[in-house]
Amino acid sequence: MQHAEIKQLLSRQRVFFQSGKTRSIDFRLAQLKKLRQAIESLEGEITAALRRDLGKSDFEAYTSEVGIVYEELSLVAANLPTWSRPQHVSTPLAYQPSFSTVHPQPRGVVLIIAPWNYPFQLLFAPLIGAIAAGNCIVLKPSELAPATTAVMSKLIERTFSPEYCALIEGGVSETTALLEEQFDHIFFTGSIPVGKIVMRAAAEHLTSVTLELGGKSPCIVDADTNLKVTARRIVWGKFFNCGQTCVAPDYLLVPRQIKRELLALIKQSVQEFYGANPQESPDYGHIINERHFDRLLALISGEVVLGGTHDRSKLYIAPTVIDQVKMEDKVMEDEIFGPILPVLEYDTLDDAFAMVRQRPNPLACYVFSNRRETEERVINELSFGGGCVNNALIHVGNPHLPFGGIGASGMGNYHGQYSFLTFSHQKSITKTPFMLDLPLKYPPYKNKVKLARKIIG
Ligand code: NAD
Repeated sequence: MQHAEIKQLLSRQRVFFQSGKTRSIDFRLAQLKKLRQAIESLEGEITAALRRDLGKSDFEAYTSEVGIVYEELSLVAANLPTWSRPQHVSTPLAYQPSFSTVHPQPRGVVLIIAPWNYPFQLLFAPLIGAIAAGNCIVLKPSELAPATTAVMSKLIERTFSPEYCALIEGGVSETTALLEEQFDHIFFTGSIPVGKIVMRAAAEHLTSVTLELGGKSPCIVDADTNLKVTARRIVWGKFFNCGQTCVAPDYLLVPRQIKRELLALIKQSVQEFYGANPQESPDYGHIINERHFDRLLALISGEVVLGGTHDRSKLYIAPTVIDQVKMEDKVMEDEIFGPILPVLEYDTLDDAFAMVRQRPNPLACYVFSNRRETEERVINELSFGGGCVNNALIHVGNPHLPFGGIGASGMGNYHGQYSFLTFSHQKSITKTPFMLDLPLKYPPYKNKVKLARKIIG
């Protein structure tokens, strides 16, 4: 789409927004219903596209993409009438007699930019929040998942008029053109460097942003844990979607004395899940493209204790575990975002925490432990977006939990009611009846400060 067309689309969306149609709760509920019907009618094509782009199994496509979106739709549609109602709050004595209310209002015309790793869910889950909050919406999916983008583009075009919700395909130049325009909120999911570009562009217009970024999410295993279950859950969380998950365990921190046993159990779990040759498993995905394939291969070095095999023609990299890794190694520089699991040893929990703190705040952190104290220390002493105790990834699938990062892993959050809040402005109103116009606040003030001290503070 040309820049001039983008400008025209946005001015049509502004006119539509100003018409007030999106303010009606019935309108919003009707759009959510239309969206669900459209997804249901194209579900087979969406699943097939996810298989083409990422080799996703039907199970992963449903549980981590389509099913999550259905769950969001159900929760948001059921609760929208309550969430959108003005909330009464109390009013201090000094302003009596008055009533105060908080009115969730649509922000206006919003932009949602998505990445390629969960190309459907990461575009449509925020879309649900944006619709629920009464906005007009421009969607920008990733150019790196072209099959899924094609189905999503057809779905949006069939379902909504462009002055209400439009999808713009394209890469850097289209996104750059979009970012030059003024939006009322930008919701971005993607990498840290592009997050900075988005925030810089938003600053020009003083547009608010939600940034859902990434980072190196540690997985801390305690010496006292159920090793067998720990290994299975780590393997599942790491190799789901071939490791291309923003909240995947990026690296393992393991006490020296249990490392050998844990590694043996990890190998066993990989074999149980994906067979002797994961390339033949229908449940193991592939890398998104050759650029990422080459980037990942360059990270495999040191003592490869599992996997390491690959096939460029199929974008296949085996589930790979590397032992004897040091914080200075290349694999520990940036988010891995692929099926490579480095293992680092620690002696005390303080040592493990010190290693985690050498990197910017991660999006997720996982701890596996039987000890309450270890669990509480991880939750309270480390700074990260969110995580699990004795599990991986699943906090993101719970629509009752806010999902978002802190610092370098992002700002703001969404899912369920948090999405509704993210795409709403909380407008505060105090209303005072005309009767009883108390003179306390009016000059001349004389000695009124004494009275003020009694009732304020
Ligand atoms: P990316 O930042 O390269 O791309 C994201 C979006 O930005 C795409 O739509 C792309 O077209 C656009 N874009 C790319 N370069 C741009 C530029 N120079 N100017 C303007 N727009 C540009 O990210 P990606 O490779 O698609 O996704 C992987 C990253 O996303 C990882 O870092 C991962 O951790 C992160 N991620 C975060 C979450 C989360 O929920 N926090 C979820 C998934 C992925």
